[in-house]
Amino acid sequence: MKAIFDARQRKHEPRHFMANGTVLPNPEQPERIERLLAGAKAAGCEMHSPEDAGLGPIAALHSPEYLTFLQTIHTRWMRIEGGGDEVIPNIHPASRNDSYPKSAVGQAGFHQADTACPIAAGTWDASYWSAQSAITGADLLHAGEPAAYALCRPPGHHAFGDLAGGFCFLNNSAIAAERLRSKGLRAAILDVDVHHGNGTQGIFYDRDDVLTVSLHADPERFYPFFWGHAHERGEGRGLGYNLNIPLVRGTDDAAYLKALERALDRIDAFGADVLVVALGLDAYVNDPFKGLAITTGGFGQITAAIAGLGMPCLFVQEGGYLCDALGDNLTSALRGYEAAS
Ligand code: ZN
Repeated sequence: MKAIFDARQRKHEPRHFMANGTVLPNPEQPERIERLLAGAKAAGCEMHSPEDAGLGPIAALHSPEYLTFLQTIHTRWMRIEGGGDEVIPNIHPASRNDSYPKSAVGQAGFHQADTACPIAAGTWDASYWSAQSAITGADLLHAGEPAAYALCRPPGHHAFGDLAGGFCFLNNSAIAAERLRSKGLRAAILDVDVHHGNGTQGIFYDRDDVLTVSLHADPERFYPFFWGHAHERGEGRGLGYNLNIPLVRGTDDAAYLKALERALDRIDAFGADVLVVALGLDAYVNDPFKGLAITTGGFGQITAAIAGLGMPCLFVQEGGYLCDALGDNLTSALRGYEAAS
């Protein structure tokens, strides 16, 4: 299948984040790209550069003030006397309805949910081209490709309409689904990353025109904690159009595939004619995040089951962190889908 990636996606090189009170190296490293590229090539993908569709498809879901923030905050941050070289928040509003400040520090707290999404000089460019990779992938499906893989990095599914978080800035999967919907297709998103796709859920929570489904490690004791519980089903018109399937820590291939059947049934019942798969590979048994216990072969079984839906499918890269099998896990996922299609 065709795969999309732009070299400018390497420009985001986050250095720090904080876990359990300890400052650690940020796990969302550009090196992930090299492993994923190798994995996509091993699966037989031809690599393509994205077209530039402009800000329009991104601004369809992300607020103007948030996009301005992402584009300008690092330059403003560099003017703070004694400031660090990455934009990392140290104060947050109590609610999204609280006042919007003029200060760079205040705006960082407003637009960054946690310390895992530091912004440096190359962050906007990398995020923009990551989103363009997803948009081009969506356009390929609209033009008749049966499947495509967007090597989106930085990832996107923790980004809300006006909020970065969890290594994510622009919600690539959501942008792709909205792009497909805007072209008259009925799109569903299936998120198989080990973490709940909270940003994606948030963006479509009150909508009934894009179905969102996520399987993930139970957030009772796992990031992102405040979202991803089974009772979150959507609101208003969107009630019933969000399905969360939390899984116990350490869930293996067999139990995962059983849970996946429920997700696929819901997508089928929605009448989707195109699927965006938020393809996190961090459900892997030896991923540094250690949430679930999917094997390399298991990823191929998951995507083979997805192929059983018989609809065009855009795979959008989400998580999956540095470990020996990262590239192999992608190869398994893409091959598994193609073999079953
Ligand atoms: Zn993840």
